[in-house]
Amino acid sequence: MSPSSFLWVLITLMICAGSITNAAAIEPAKNIIIMISDGMGYNHSEAASLYASGHKDSQVYSGFPVRLAMSTHAITGGYDGELIWNRFPEALKGATDSAAAATAMASGQKTSRGTIGMVPEKDGTLRSVENLVERAEKLGKASGLVTSVPFAHATPAAFVVHNPKRKNFLEISTNMLHDSALEVLIGCGHPFYDRNGQQLNAARTFKSVGDKSTWTALQAGTLGGDTDGDGQIDPWTLIEQRTDFQKLAVGATPQRLLGIPQVAKTLQQGRSGDPHARPYAVPLLKTVPNLTELTRAALNVLDNDPDGLFLMIEGGAMDWACHDNQSGRMLEEQLDFDRTVAAVVRWVETHSSWDETLLIVTGDHETGYLTGPGSDPDWQPLVNRGRNQLPGMEWHHDYHTNSLIPLFAKGRGAERLLVLVEGNDPVRGPYVDNTAVAKVAFAAFE
Ligand SMILES: [Zn+2]
Repeated sequence: MSPSSFLWVLITLMICAGSITNAAAIEPAKNIIIMISDGMGYNHSEAASLYASGHKDSQVYSGFPVRLAMSTHAITGGYDGELIWNRFPEALKGATDSAAAATAMASGQKTSRGTIGMVPEKDGTLRSVENLVERAEKLGKASGLVTSVPFAHATPAAFVVHNPKRKNFLEISTNMLHDSALEVLIGCGHPFYDRNGQQLNAARTFKSVGDKSTWTALQAGTLGGDTDGDGQIDPWTLIEQRTDFQKLAVGATPQRLLGIPQVAKTLQQGRSGDPHARPYAVPLLKTVPNLTELTRAALNVLDNDPDGLFLMIEGGAMDWACHDNQSGRMLEEQLDFDRTVAAVVRWVETHSSWDETLLIVTGDHETGYLTGPGSDPDWQPLVNRGRNQLPGMEWHHDYHTNSLIPLFAKGRGAERLLVLVEGNDPVRGPYVDNTAVAKVAFAAFE
């Protein structure tokens, strides 16, 4: 960031901070939507922009009024911009995982890697912390979680359950399906379909949907907790087919929607074919809905509640493509996510307004240490090869890094992020910590 643009940011910060101090009369946000592209750093987002348009900053969120960097480390870590931009391998140290990162964004509190919705006490025991779904439900709002991977995975899980171990999938999915008050839950992991959306004769695994008896009860429409607090069970309505998701984008909806697309662990990222091919060279599975279709259905169910809604949308398979350094599939996932952000913006502008809705778009950590070609020991920019062309890029790792990631926000209460700025990175500029996401969301609901 040039000194002049930093000055501009400082002035903006001062103006916004000034308006927050006399903001006692601020109306609460009716709706909060948080969108997380798992593994998205600056270069992932920029690569998707270059591919989609041939230039930088083409995504709708580039024009959001609040654009900051965000630190992502877990409870024991930290972020030092001078150090990280001084020595190339430094970013490989002290990276978070999705469980600690999502817990921070869902509760406003730091925890250790692998922990879901709980934080360590001084004596080492774990204490459950309130998450945004619980707060939304307390306020009488509808709540939902949408992901392109199984819903019991760390990012969605941390927004609704409390578990010492992210790998306790059965406990976590049981909590989500049997005990939670969620109105919408959508994720992959259909027991009877493979990664190419082909139906199987015998179940692959029931791990992503509870267990066999849970699945049977879900299909019969008899399973669910009490979401409206009247002491009666409110069963899930299960949908699986792409056409059912598409139909639910408008019109009448069930009280509670459970969506399990007919595919194994991811919508598209896990399909057969060369995983290192350029984007869309391997045709997309036509029977599988995209993240935008899942999200439209979710919003159409949730917006029935006159008290408002909370929705977390995760592009979860982005991270998996990055772990495997799959440039083409990473772009497919990020482009699906970016189109979904555009659809959410359209929803806000047609069914709600920025005056009553807060939208935050970010990642949970950077994955793959993605840079331009020829980096290390220095950092080179991505090479723009024009629209529909794979930009020049280079992966340096198969896990997460401690790099800052981008955050974009717009709508009711978004400017509160500016007063939570913790430092000024020599390259990325002013940054907040990932706990700021939940802090701002809790404050916006008040
Ligand atoms: Zn992650």
